[in-house]
Amino acid sequence: MTKVIESIAEWRRVRQQILLEDRSVGFVPTMGNLHAGHQSLLKRSKQENATSVLSIFVNRTQFDDENDFAKYPRTFFEDYALAEAMGIDYILLPKYEELYPDSYRYRVTELMLSQGMEGQHRAGHFDGVLTIVMKLLLLVKPAQVYLGEKDYQQLQLVTEMAKAFFLDTKVIACPTIRDVNGLALSSRNNRLTVEQYQLAIRFPKLLSSQKTAAEIRQGLEQLGFMVDYVEEFQGRRYGAVRIGDVRLIDNFVVYS
Ligand code: AMP
Repeated sequence: MTKVIESIAEWRRVRQQILLEDRSVGFVPTMGNLHAGHQSLLKRSKQENATSVLSIFVNRTQFDDENDFAKYPRTFFEDYALAEAMGIDYILLPKYEELYPDSYRYRVTELMLSQGMEGQHRAGHFDGVLTIVMKLLLLVKPAQVYLGEKDYQQLQLVTEMAKAFFLDTKVIACPTIRDVNGLALSSRNNRLTVEQYQLAIRFPKLLSSQKTAAEIRQGLEQLGFMVDYVEEFQGRRYGAVRIGDVRLIDNFVVYS
């Protein structure tokens, strides 16, 4: 049975017991509203570790838009059912006040990779992401943490942060899970209307096409997307677009 842990003090006691029993811990940090993308990470953690821990925490410090934070779907009972069905051992459900006893006076800042793309369009986003991931890794002390390639810039930043701070956790990259039309699964997809969804599925098609970044940007704008960026970096093409108030991101390897 999946055990839900809401207090950090209780988690510390559980973690001590896991240590005494010498069980390896796999960790999947999320903001909840679980879908098949998260499920693939949890499945991999289950396969590779004696104990699997899922955290659900809608991390306010990484949102630059209060409205997006307020509207972020919170579906604990469905999430619990999924974790339970998958045999996940623990769900961490921490509270903001407990995770940020310093009121976010202390934070992790990266000065290069975090400045472009998502970082450029969402002020403070990666400070929030790196800070919460650091806090959770120090608390959970996993042997392996599982992150999705869907958020590739985040994946790269966390991987390099783990190296920079000598963390004992291995960062495992998991492939992007898509729906039948190629749209990367995201908790924000639920907010798309039927018409908006028909437009949304054109985004991964264009982004993965043979066209140049400039042509793709133009094509997306012609279709009616608001384009935040289409950029190529180290052999990968990244894009972020908005349809109404729903923001979508995606990335693909560029084959030349
Ligand atoms: P989130 O709850 O959206 O913050 O995501 C939690 C983790 O799940 C992150 O490591 C994401 O990259 C990963 N993730 C989200 N969507 C997908 C997807 N469609 N495929 C694979 N991983 C995903």
